[in-house]
Amino acid sequence: MNNWEIPIWLEKEVQERDKTCVYCGIQMIEQMPPRGPRKNVATWEHIINDASIVSRENIARCCVACNSSKGSKKLFDWIQSSYCKKRGINKDTVAEVVKEALRVHAKLDIRPLEGV
Ligand SMILES: [Zn+2]
Repeated sequence: MNNWEIPIWLEKEVQERDKTCVYCGIQMIEQMPPRGPRKNVATWEHIINDASIVSRENIARCCVACNSSKGSKKLFDWIQSSYCKKRGINKDTVAEVVKEALRVHAKLDIRPLEGV
């Protein structure tokens, strides 16, 4: 399931850490079910959409539903989307690794961060 040249040690570490979706917090499943809903399946995620950042701070796992909703959106923009609002996802509910990314990038980003 790992096509992103994530080193094995990092893959293992992140799998251990992220048992639940880093965004919405649901319990994820490892395998695509043969039928039925797939939204809870675990996927690999670059928190900041930059495939060159392969670190424990930027590689995380989230569910299919969050991954497909986030797509190529910036974390800041996505976290204010209707998807997140509807599910009560915000800077206080996300996993620690995402909070950290928001903190770091808040310093780098010059735009005002309304609601984040
Ligand atoms: Zn999710």
